[in-house]
Amino acid sequence: MLELAILGSGSSGNSALVCLGETRVLVDAGLSAKQLCLRLESLGVDPNSLSGIILTHEHGDHTRGIDVFCRKRPLPVYATTHTCAVVRENVNSPVTWRPFESGSPLAIGEMKIESFSVPHDAVDPVGFVFRCKQSSIGILSDVGHVTRMIMDRLRGVDTLFTEANYDEVMLQNDTKRPWSTKQRISNRHGHLSNDQTADLVSAIAAPNLTRVVLGHLSSDCNTAELATSVIAKKLTESGFSDVAVECAERIHPLPLTAAARASKIPPAIDEEKPAKSARVCEPSAPEPTSDMPSDWKQTEWAF
Ligand SMILES: [Zn+2]
Ligand SMILES: [Zn+2]
Repeated sequence: MLELAILGSGSSGNSALVCLGETRVLVDAGLSAKQLCLRLESLGVDPNSLSGIILTHEHGDHTRGIDVFCRKRPLPVYATTHTCAVVRENVNSPVTWRPFESGSPLAIGEMKIESFSVPHDAVDPVGFVFRCKQSSIGILSDVGHVTRMIMDRLRGVDTLFTEANYDEVMLQNDTKRPWSTKQRISNRHGHLSNDQTADLVSAIAAPNLTRVVLGHLSSDCNTAELATSVIAKKLTESGFSDVAVECAERIHPLPLTAAARASKIPPAIDEEKPAKSARVCEPSAPEPTSDMPSDWKQTEWAF
């Protein structure tokens, strides 16, 4: 069964963790290396046990931790050929670059990964669907508008992690951002509003959809309560009131959670309990503090 954790999400840094048995993949690494380590440890995952990093696109809030994190851990980094070409200019660590073409299937361990192009102001941004025999996870971050391809690829996933960046009224009324930045956020290559995300989620929902995690919330132009209520209301109107909807946070990770309902797992027959992996640490490491970390760079307008 696939599992999903969110290490952090927001314009100041994005990183998620997808696990399948001993295969552990970071989706984006936009937090500092120190925070990536602290947050992995707080979830009981040894930072040295990762299988690789896969990138949605090159923006700093998705990639800034790679160089330092990989100094001690020469991990493979998977990204589209164009994204690789841009990101590697700022990475001196001995990572193994694994370029792929958007749309071509990937496998990391037993994990199957599909990628698909999304509209965003980056060189070759993509979304992902992770699959195993029992479950699937869709990941969509930084998208200006929803395309037919996005809906086709995400339809039927068990768990969806998608951005819900801003509330349209709050963005319009925001006095901190110049008009040009507001335009950049809301245009067809910027980010999704709560209403756009609600339409997407209700369009791709199927009876097996268990959980929707919302991310990349603007700290000034959205709230977790508002985003959650807009998406949950739309799901209820569409007949999917039992789907859990929650928001990822900037500072506190969301723990590893199975991607599908347990009833989907076929019962084990006389199976010995597998030995606990020596590469996973006990989940006793200290939680990151709620204070803003000292190495945290606030870049609210970063994409
Ligand atoms: Zn971006
Ligand atoms: Zn971003």
